[in-house]
Amino acid sequence: MSPFTIRLTFHGDLLFFLSSKVSTVERRLSEKTSVKDVIEACGVPHTEVDLILAKGQPVDFAFVIGCESAIDVYPVGSRGITSFAENRLQVRDIRKFVADGHLGKLVRDLRLLGADVTYDPVAEDRHLVMIASSENRALLTRDRRLLMHAIVRHGYYLRSQDPLEQTLEILRRFNLGSALAPFTRCLRCNTLLEPAKKAEVFDQLEPLTRIYYEQFRRCPGCGQVYWSGSHFAKLQKRIETIRSRLIGEDIS
Ligand SMILES: [Zn+2]
Repeated sequence: MSPFTIRLTFHGDLLFFLSSKVSTVERRLSEKTSVKDVIEACGVPHTEVDLILAKGQPVDFAFVIGCESAIDVYPVGSRGITSFAENRLQVRDIRKFVADGHLGKLVRDLRLLGADVTYDPVAEDRHLVMIASSENRALLTRDRRLLMHAIVRHGYYLRSQDPLEQTLEILRRFNLGSALAPFTRCLRCNTLLEPAKKAEVFDQLEPLTRIYYEQFRRCPGCGQVYWSGSHFAKLQKRIETIRSRLIGEDIS
């Protein structure tokens, strides 16, 4: 077939991913190509794309482009377009995540808020991709190549390198603001905590903790004991900082 030109217009914050930083990109194709491949060739992972319009009509990632076309690509939460609600390509209410190995601080924040985040600092890329796919978790990463794997259905590319900003990004992107359950999950291993009697954890406590504290929770996964000691106040402050940043924002 003879080569043809397609014009893609990227809307909203998808501009972030384009090296040209110009929202309209022209590409010359010499064979039929899926719209997913064309979009990702521009640097935009499919997990960031919520709506694709080809000549004004919604299409999915498998849509094949075989002739000159104008394609519009919209991000999740795009304020510019409110129609085609049933043609959205991303799910926003994912509640389970897997984070890549560079995101330890973000993982700690999210677990502190009660979110289910699988994390292994030495996990290999293929392992992360496999967990995201088999456990239907959203993959959190700053490696856009990982998000481009076809088997990754849900994911998010963190724009910021700052852990607090990253946490806010995730809360907004996945609508977690109303689903927070602070202090319910082990910060170390992600297991849900259970109440524990003082006598059950007594051997694991420092002398002063034995005197001053009565209420404890324990992780059934790794055995870590939690109580409202000095570290607790610090964690509570972190939660308040996050919450205060969310207040007043439209996170619906
Ligand atoms: Zn644990």
